[in-house]
Amino acid sequence: MSILIKHGRIITADCDQAADIFIEGEKITAVGKNLVMAADETIDASGKLIFPGGIDPHVHLDMPFMGTFSSDSYETGTRAALFGGTTMVIDFILQKQGHSLSDALQEWKSRSNNNCVGDYSFHMAVTDFNENTKKEIGHFVQNEGITSFKTFMAYKGALMIDDRQMVGLMEEVKEQGGLVTVHATNGDMIDYLIAKHRAEGKLSPLYHYLSQPEVTEAEASERFADLANYTGCPAYIVHLTCEGALNAVRNATRRNQNVLVETCIQYLLIDASLYRREDGGKWVMSPPLREKKDQETLWAGINQGLVKVVATDHCPFKWQQKLMGKDDFSKIPNGHPAIEHRMELLYSEGVNKGKISVNKFIEVACTNPAKIFGMFPRKGTIGIGSDADIIIFDPTEKHTITASSHHMNVDYSAYEGWEVTGKIKTVLLRGKVAIDNNVCKLEKGYGRFIRRNKVNGII
Ligand SMILES: [Zn+2]
Repeated sequence: MSILIKHGRIITADCDQAADIFIEGEKITAVGKNLVMAADETIDASGKLIFPGGIDPHVHLDMPFMGTFSSDSYETGTRAALFGGTTMVIDFILQKQGHSLSDALQEWKSRSNNNCVGDYSFHMAVTDFNENTKKEIGHFVQNEGITSFKTFMAYKGALMIDDRQMVGLMEEVKEQGGLVTVHATNGDMIDYLIAKHRAEGKLSPLYHYLSQPEVTEAEASERFADLANYTGCPAYIVHLTCEGALNAVRNATRRNQNVLVETCIQYLLIDASLYRREDGGKWVMSPPLREKKDQETLWAGINQGLVKVVATDHCPFKWQQKLMGKDDFSKIPNGHPAIEHRMELLYSEGVNKGKISVNKFIEVACTNPAKIFGMFPRKGTIGIGSDADIIIFDPTEKHTITASSHHMNVDYSAYEGWEVTGKIKTVLLRGKVAIDNNVCKLEKGYGRFIRRNKVNGII
């Protein structure tokens, strides 16, 4: 099967050119002006932009959490991602304390195997680092193609590791050629504030926000950066939200340390005033939404090259599930739906409104995730030999985000009524048309587990 895409304008992280693309099987085999090839199918992309497929390196599909499961399965979540131009996601496996990493991998495979429409990989969340876990790290890097290890500095008794375990894990991951990622926050301080607010009868969603002040994230980000600097381990902070935390990373650059930073689309666009609403539980996530000044800091961080990735932390719960916490903010399942709209929102609010360049958009949404997590140049760019993961995008079409037309398995939208400029028209995944005119052409099982290479934290 071969496809020729004609007359488009190709945008990558570092180029912008009018050229054609020729695809054979799953790969791009030629890029050039006025290609003349016999193809099984020709796509006319006149007037359109052509992007590499998006990579969202932070999603939680079908994940057990707070007594329930996130509402998107691997099928519905990866399909919704494709509608939004995200051709690959990286999901999280959570080790159970007292059990092995391999047990956790088996459990996650039982839910994901043959169920994905789009491509996927896993981060391994290490929640119990000990002599046995240590022996498994090398196996995951070398044999499973899982080279990133997530840690939590919060959720004590379930997911959190202490600094002793953190340093041990960093030493081993560095040795094996992997990367340590972190939910950087001061878990003990948050636990104290949650207990205090509950004891005072302060139970509305607003107190979710007030239990996780900026200092909890800033302090932990600095501590994580210091430990990574001491061990020399490649380091990545997930879902960074605020000025204080970004300043900690900026300080680390002064000693020529690379701390890779991800933010998520919501922290760029919406703020903590939503927690005062009756339905504020829709935006209960951790870390919480912050202030307008933090949004400006994050946009600036992208342009300064400090913020390398824009992800989603997609972790949807239906309204009925959110109501588990209607009388107590601490019982609201954390997370919000965004996997489908990351690319269009970032283009519309970022590129179209003049905050970032179109090349920067591709860098943070496609290319950097591929580089950081060991998949470049197979993924994250348009080049000869790369997987034919391609978006054909109309930069002028306007549309409105609404729950009634989205494809995520959740009964509300966190962005209800947002008008966006720019629409994903066609999406290819490994040489097959995945989305065309709002129809998904692929079945579950097409999505493939992508084995990742060793990484060193330098991109
Ligand atoms: Zn997450």
